[in-house]
Amino acid sequence: MTFRTRFAPSPTGPLHLGHAYSAMLAHDMAMENGGDFLLRIEDIDQTRSRPEWEDQIYEDLAWLGLSWETPVLRQSDRVDTYRAALQRLWENDWLYPCRCNRKDILAAAAAPNEGTPLVGPDGIVYPGTCRSTHDPSGLPNSLTEMPTATALRLNMAMAAALATEHRIDDPDRPWSAFGGFTETGAGPDGETGLIEFTEGSLIDTIGDVVLSRRDFVGSYHLSVVLDDADQQITHVIRGNDLFEATKIHVVLQRLLGLPTPIYHHHQLIRDEAGKRLAKRDDARAISKFREEGHTPEDIRRMVGLISQAP
Ligand code: GLU
Repeated sequence: MTFRTRFAPSPTGPLHLGHAYSAMLAHDMAMENGGDFLLRIEDIDQTRSRPEWEDQIYEDLAWLGLSWETPVLRQSDRVDTYRAALQRLWENDWLYPCRCNRKDILAAAAAPNEGTPLVGPDGIVYPGTCRSTHDPSGLPNSLTEMPTATALRLNMAMAAALATEHRIDDPDRPWSAFGGFTETGAGPDGETGLIEFTEGSLIDTIGDVVLSRRDFVGSYHLSVVLDDADQQITHVIRGNDLFEATKIHVVLQRLLGLPTPIYHHHQLIRDEAGKRLAKRDDARAISKFREEGHTPEDIRRMVGLISQAP
């Protein structure tokens, strides 16, 4: 099987050193393995994405000396695919509509935990307000009949139980089909190798994640698993801030019958104060370094992809 990996930036700001590291590492690993390096523009959130940032992504990556397979996949072109997957999940009663706003969620989540809501990879662990009040018999048959401005959440307890059952029902699936995923890099606490997790931990520490947002069809978690499968990605190489979210991705892969790639999470590039770089951190934008006369080799040195000594 050909090694295929991807870099998946969101065009919501300039690429910085952290993105350069992620893209160059993925590109290097693809080349070392005689594989393919793909690019995906994660512009599902049209309120924050800008065409000028997308143009700058191509420019910065080319300047760094990277080349990628074409055509480039853009999430904004894939709304029908996301909608079809949501419809499948919906028909199985794995989703329910949620009308809570952030304030409602904060108030309900804080109450049983002495004022401190539990935060997981999808934000505050949803306290289940709309899950317990929704009446499945009263739901429309199809998503297209849903009132707009309604988010859809995954019923994690149901999903985790069903996904576990799949594994038992199908002895030919590899153990990692649901029980976990293979990590060839490391999570934030050095987790590596076969990463297992339980049904209970999915419910308690992640909860009912949003799979379709009130302002656009789909969500990061839904689109990333569909896109990785459609792009036939064998190795996902990305920052370790997404390590915990991988558990959500594995659950969705099981529910949608998609393969689980191998994951390689890498460390995050931090500033001198140890703070992780953000999109608004213009001082470390690739374009700034380029304007200042730095070379792509300098960038490789800065992120530790070649040794410090010139
Ligand atoms: N779009 C995400 C980001 O810019 C990357 C998601 C991924 O690699 O799975 O952080």
